[in-house]
Amino acid sequence: MSFPNKKTFSRKRSIITTITLWYSFFIFIILIAVVIASFFVSRTISETAGQRELQSQAIEMVEELDEDDDELEEFESFDDGIYYAIYDSSNQVLQGSFPHFFDAGLPFKPDKISDVTNNGRTFQYYDLAIANSNQWLRAIRVKNQMGEGLRTLLTSVIIVLPLVMFFVIVGGYLILKKSFQPIKKITATAQEITNKKDYSKRIAVSDKGDELTNLAQVINTMLASIDQSFKREKQFNNDVSHELRTPVTVILSESEYGKDYADTMEDAKESFNVIHRQSQLMKKMVEQILELTRAENKTQLTMETIDFSQFVNQFLEDSKRLFNEQSIFLDTQIEEGINLVGDPILLKRLIDNLISNAVKFTKDKIRVSLSQSENNIILSIKDNGQGIAKQELEKIWHRFYRIDSSRHTKGVGLGLSLVKEIATLHQAQVRVESELGHGSDFKVIFKTNR
Ligand code: ADP
Repeated sequence: MSFPNKKTFSRKRSIITTITLWYSFFIFIILIAVVIASFFVSRTISETAGQRELQSQAIEMVEELDEDDDELEEFESFDDGIYYAIYDSSNQVLQGSFPHFFDAGLPFKPDKISDVTNNGRTFQYYDLAIANSNQWLRAIRVKNQMGEGLRTLLTSVIIVLPLVMFFVIVGGYLILKKSFQPIKKITATAQEITNKKDYSKRIAVSDKGDELTNLAQVINTMLASIDQSFKREKQFNNDVSHELRTPVTVILSESEYGKDYADTMEDAKESFNVIHRQSQLMKKMVEQILELTRAENKTQLTMETIDFSQFVNQFLEDSKRLFNEQSIFLDTQIEEGINLVGDPILLKRLIDNLISNAVKFTKDKIRVSLSQSENNIILSIKDNGQGIAKQELEKIWHRFYRIDSSRHTKGVGLGLSLVKEIATLHQAQVRVESELGHGSDFKVIFKTNR
């Protein structure tokens, strides 16, 4: 006996075959048991009936013989499976017939059904004295001889059984095969995706709504999400390369100019200035990309309950000098005692980015408000700057999106993407209301019952 072989064999056999074999085996056993049981039951019933028939037929025959002596000439020695014989008083056969192997010379056993076995065959006989004569009638039947009905039953069972088995096995196999079809499709699609690296493929799902179609639907949803992040990743890589190309090209051409053509210190300084500006832009971009990637990959947030009112107040207090330097009037409406569950470092980045933008774009005033309703906590940062055109309101949340470079903001277009990412991580929503020339109001809406 070797286990590895056994293991290989069972692994190769499909689930469908295993299930089909399993239930076929049991149905077969049950059917065989039913046939055997019905055979024995029918045989017992037929035996009792045969015995009763032997007795009643013998009595009837004796009565007929008694009524009319002429009956002797018309005497039928075999009728309906029963043999009859007439004996004289000294046990000599006068006429009649006997089944094969029956010993005709057996002594009389009056009024009693007796069994006798000879040469492997069992007989039943019944002796009766014929009235008004010295003669005897002996009726004999072969025991355990299958009746016509029983034989028909067994024959039909023997024909029907394989037919029933055939339909059960083939029917069950086909049903199973059809039910397992989605698994085949799942396997084929997964294989195709692996081979072609094409995550846009989906499993064709029927509307049956059974367990396997549900599984296929879940896998499709998972594939859609993988596909989406795959595409996003690709787009992000493209964007990063594209965004870095400009400063790198400027740095290269400026350094080349400085190396080959700058005659005076002034010329050289100017080139260095350009290179320095572009390098700083690149540094900022790389930092923001890193931050964004970190936020995106943050599967485990360091969540804690924060006194958000105090948190925002503290941030504004720390930024006071920035507002003063730029002569910005800060108006605050912070409701006291608002608690929020969140990641403090990320929330600080969120507030920082929104405030930096407001400082960058405002005319002279910023209003920061924090309020709580039954379901939401709303943080709003409003400025009275140049505002954003309606058609731009959607796009500003996209990575690397900057509204026309003539604004000279030196931004890299990643700040609001980061704000949105952090908000999503906190199951919060971002909104912006803005009017060109009048200012913008950025809102982050947190849910209170998270
Ligand atoms: P950046 O880092 O370049 O500021 P952001 O993602 O933060 O990029 O912003 C995207 C664009 O949205 C900016 O280029 C800017 O034009 C616009 N924007 C953001 N905040 C404001 C604001 N408070 N007022 C006007 N425009 C804004």
